[in-house]
Order: sequence, then structure tokens, then C-alpha cells
Amino acid sequence: MVNHKIQAAEENLLHVYNRFPVVLDHGEGMYLYDTDGKEYLDFAAGFAVTGLGYNCKELNEALKAQIDKLYHTSNLYYHETCGEAARELNRVCGMDRVFFTNSGGEAVEGALKAARRYAYTKGTGRFEFIAMENSFHGRTFGAVSVTGHDAYREPFEPLVPGVRFAKFNDLDSVKALVSDRTCAIILEPLQGEGGINLADQEFMEGIRRICDENDILMICDEVQCGMGRTGSMFAWQGFGVKPDILTMAKAIGNGVPVGAFAMTEQVAEYSLKAGDHGATYGGNPLACTAVKKVIEIFEREDIVGHVNKVAPYLTKRLDELVDELDCVTERKGKGLMQGIVVTKPLAEVNSRAIEEGLLVIQAQGNVIRFVPPLIAEEKHIDEMIEKLKRALA
Ligand SMILES: *Cc1c(COP(=O)(O)O)cnc(C)c1O
Repeated sequence: MVNHKIQAAEENLLHVYNRFPVVLDHGEGMYLYDTDGKEYLDFAAGFAVTGLGYNCKELNEALKAQIDKLYHTSNLYYHETCGEAARELNRVCGMDRVFFTNSGGEAVEGALKAARRYAYTKGTGRFEFIAMENSFHGRTFGAVSVTGHDAYREPFEPLVPGVRFAKFNDLDSVKALVSDRTCAIILEPLQGEGGINLADQEFMEGIRRICDENDILMICDEVQCGMGRTGSMFAWQGFGVKPDILTMAKAIGNGVPVGAFAMTEQVAEYSLKAGDHGATYGGNPLACTAVKKVIEIFEREDIVGHVNKVAPYLTKRLDELVDELDCVTERKGKGLMQGIVVTKPLAEVNSRAIEEGLLVIQAQGNVIRFVPPLIAEEKHIDEMIEKLKRALA
């Protein structure tokens, strides 16, 4: 059947997305509805973005009120929401100085520049980045340059020079690349796109040690795994291993486009100075209202506590799938950021899931990724498992 709404959109868009044949219209809590009124249980959250789910009234009201007041100023002028959002975000992410961007890719871009600027001020001559295989850091040139996946890189080479790739969770492979040219090591504490791969405790601690011993900066990219998803506000806190620079985006605005990179005071002292970096829209009043309100709701509703309460149930139900179904071979991940390795073609499973009214996304390594809104309850997990079983049958 030809869907005319999809056809109309396709005519004018650049075809860079493999979209599902669904036209979404509105959402409520854990559910999305298409233009025919069909209901979908959402275990994708728009790529781990809508942590608070859809139609969060309190957030909607705050955004509407800010729209009527002011939603653009440029960064030549202060507005109160900017300072408040920065203070709150620093408080929950454990950093001291934050710069607001419009996306995750831009946050990574800024973090890389901040690291280079730190080395430049110090006059160390360090410029190389060590990144991880199977990493994903976004689509801008700098972000693609540290992304450890050839398909995202090759068509755009030559990329930013000075990037070397180590094996994730293999400290020796990192050590082998460290030299007096190394400026920063960048990693996701829990790799998302690359297949839901959780860093080992020893790996995180080992990287921190290497950085401390060599005046190298540790950059944690928490664009996906941050903001409550792994059972702590930011994943680094769960490891007790603090980065020097932290990137954030996705869930911090619940879907309002906003990202950020933040750093410790010690890094800021030597890093970006006035005139070094900027973003016309970055941290505009609307984005900052979203960040401020999202943090407020997260804390009042104890979203992190809820994740810790419900995640073991997701783990249990997914482990059961591994036991029950031959086509499911492994469960991976932590908190409400988990995945299963399946032996069936994912495109097929995905389209059958959509027929069943379930939205899930994939990750590399034939992984089905579960990154639902963080308000998911046990009954939603049960419903997801039932639908997924039918899609895998
Ligand atoms: C999604 C993602 C990005 C890129 O974010 P955009 O907002 O799409 O630019 C960067 N890093 C990680 C870990 C991500 O998951």
C-alpha cells in the first residue's frame, strides 16, 4: 500500500535516513500514535532522548511560557534561564563550567576543541586523540574523526588528523597508543550505537590513571548514556571515575534540541577563552528552560531511583529471552540502556515489531537496543517482551 503522507515527504527530503514506514502524530507517556491512530509502545525514545516520555505537561507549560516571554537573545546578552540551567546542569553532572550547544555532535566538537586549546595554552605540543573502536560520537567532521566505525568515516576522508583507535575495554591497547603527543582520550562509558558495550570498572580506572600520569584529558561522551539512563545521573558517577570534560545532549532537553560540553575548573583555566568558540543559538532561553525543567522534574520525581527500581526487571526479562529463544544469544548493557544480540535479520524483526505496535532500534553487532523513556514501568516491560516475542517468532 502506498502511504501518500510518506511519499509527499520523500519528494523533498535528502534520502539519508532509513525510515520506518510510520507517520507519527502525537505521544502520551510511553506511547506514540500514528496518523491512523495506531498505538506504539516506545522503547526507542527517539534515540534515548525523551527520558520523561511524551506530553509531559509540566515541561510543555514551561516551554510555552518561555516562548511567550523570549526565546532568542544570542550569546552577547545574558538571560536568567542560561545561568540557572548552567548551574543546575553543573550540579548534577559534577562539572564546573558548561557550554551549551544545539546537538550532541556539536558538544563533541566543542570538547575536542577544548582539549586542543588546553594543550595549546600549556604549550605541550600535544594534539592527538585516542578514541575507541566501535565508538559513535556524531556526524560533524571532528565527531566523525573520533568515531570508530569505517562506514561513517570512509566517504568523508581525509578527516581531522591525529586520531588513533584503541580497543574498547583493552587497557593495553590504549597504553600502546599513548605518547607525548596524546592530548585526550575520548570514550563512551556505555557505547550506544556501537552495540551497547559497557566499560569495565578497571578500564575506566585505568584510563583515568593514564590521563593523570601524563597530563592527558579524559573526555566522557555521555550524550546517550547520561541523564539517568544507567542508574546514576551520569554514567561516570556510577563508576566513580570523573572525566575532565563531559559531553551531553539527547535526554537533557527531552527533545528540545540542546547539548552541552562541560569541564572542570582546572581544565577551564587553560582551555577556551573569549572569542575561541561560539554558537549563535547555543543555550538560548528555550533550550535552557528545557534543561532546567527536565532536571527539576528528574529530581522531584526521583527518575534515577525509578530507573534503579525497574531496570533489574528489564534485565531479568531479557535474560529469560536469552534462555528461551535460540535466536537471542546475549544480553548487554545497564539500567534502561540495554540490548540483545539476535541471529535474525534486524530489518525483518523491526518491521514485525512495528506491526505489533512496538518501536525498538538497532545497534551494531545485530543488537536490538532498548532505550525507553525512563518512566517505563514493569507493565510496559511485560508488554514489550510479549510484542517482541511475536516479532522474533
Ligand atoms: C547521538 C550521539 C551523538 C551525536 O548526537 P547528535 O545530537 O545526533 O549530534 C554523539 N555521541 C553519542 C554517544 C551519541 O549517542
